[in-house]
Amino acid sequence: MSISAAKKFENFTAWFDDLLLKARIADNRFPVKGFLVYMENGAFMLDKIRELLERELERAGHKKMYFPLVTSEEVFSKEAEHIKGFLKEVFVIDQGPGEQRLIVRPTSETIMYPMFKLWIRSHADLPLKVYQSVNVYRRETKATRALYRVREIPWNEAHTVHENASEAEKQVREAMEIYRRVLEKLGISYMTLKRPDFDKFAGAVYSIAFDAWNPDGKVNQVATVHNLGRNFARAYGLEFEKKDGSRGVPYQTCYGFGFSRVLAAVIAQHGDDHGLVLPPVIAPTQVVIIPIPFKGQEKKIYEYSAKVRDLVASKWRTVLDDREDVTPGEKFYHWELLGTPVRLEIGPKEVVESSVTLARRDTLERSKVSLEELPGKVDEVMKSIESNLLEKSRRMMMSLVSDAKTLDEVKKILRQRRIARIEWCNETACAEKLKEEVGGEIRGERYDIAEKPTGKCIVCGKPAKSVVYVSRAY
Ligand SMILES: [Zn+2]
Repeated sequence: MSISAAKKFENFTAWFDDLLLKARIADNRFPVKGFLVYMENGAFMLDKIRELLERELERAGHKKMYFPLVTSEEVFSKEAEHIKGFLKEVFVIDQGPGEQRLIVRPTSETIMYPMFKLWIRSHADLPLKVYQSVNVYRRETKATRALYRVREIPWNEAHTVHENASEAEKQVREAMEIYRRVLEKLGISYMTLKRPDFDKFAGAVYSIAFDAWNPDGKVNQVATVHNLGRNFARAYGLEFEKKDGSRGVPYQTCYGFGFSRVLAAVIAQHGDDHGLVLPPVIAPTQVVIIPIPFKGQEKKIYEYSAKVRDLVASKWRTVLDDREDVTPGEKFYHWELLGTPVRLEIGPKEVVESSVTLARRDTLERSKVSLEELPGKVDEVMKSIESNLLEKSRRMMMSLVSDAKTLDEVKKILRQRRIARIEWCNETACAEKLKEEVGGEIRGERYDIAEKPTGKCIVCGKPAKSVVYVSRAY
């Protein structure tokens, strides 16, 4: 049985906003623009996503630290490109007359690197790999959107320092791999795109982004990885003694992972007309047991349900929904809305047969399972849900991309809420003209595979220098 997700494709915004509130993920009615309240299910899932990522970072040798929320205007302004890129969107704290204004972090290069300068003396101190999971703040001027475009951004940022360029390059690949593993666990599919120069991180040599697909056709940048070269190191005076005794300027990378955007991708990519469909690893409740009472046999059914709960609760986050004033049908509806991966139904028949009826949320398929087989079967279904979500999402990602040879074709593809692949001359003027004409932007060229241009720039007709992807974006 396949599930229709008609509502989310027809009117994504209404579907998404409705779900955020009904599934108790977030409440967007806080009276300050761009600031969001995360309710119990949203907060739980953000924490789980954070744990998944931090485990991978730790495994790869990153050390967790916490840096201050603020820096001074003077320190913030040291890297010229960086300040140009961020100055318009930082929040400032006015300390009162005679005191310097403080800048609230929009990201933490300018806060961490003065400290790195104190800590790094010689090659023995390298590589330095540091991360923190904190909120950063950006004064978004565009319309804000819950989880996607907010002014208080829950994220993880990692910052590394290396002896030479090739070590930094290697670090970029390690970061890509860390993010790939976490996103895969969540069943999220995306394209990894090297951003065009005009759109790279302010102060970086180059930037690679993870653009996840979204039902409304606007891609959702969930993570970015930047090779900083020595731009920041020079600006902040980082130096170290090399093995041969000479002095050198180190190379840096940094990478950020947006927890609320990743959560948005989980909801948007997997959800259907019944509500959330959650990957087991972050689901607040993984197994729900619903007794279906039958006159005269209530006690037997509840006792049996408690026994079933004890069988699975040691391994999976399990709830026995034994509310007596709610019908089983209403309970099905409720737990489907919440995206609970596995539901176990128990009526008089199951008690007699010593079995349960198992329903999986992703396909809504139901099957009978004997009590002895139950623990193994639940494990198997959870694994199957995880891989099924990823496969389905990947198929969707692939089906969204089409080649375009003219601007009209690009327009048509974007109108269909899809992504266009074009050839481009790498000139900013052409990128600007394209954006103006079609309403979408050049997101960059594939990082994971090499795509060579064979024809002409879709805008000016001169020989193309790259194959790039065009879409609307959050
Ligand atoms: Zn051109």
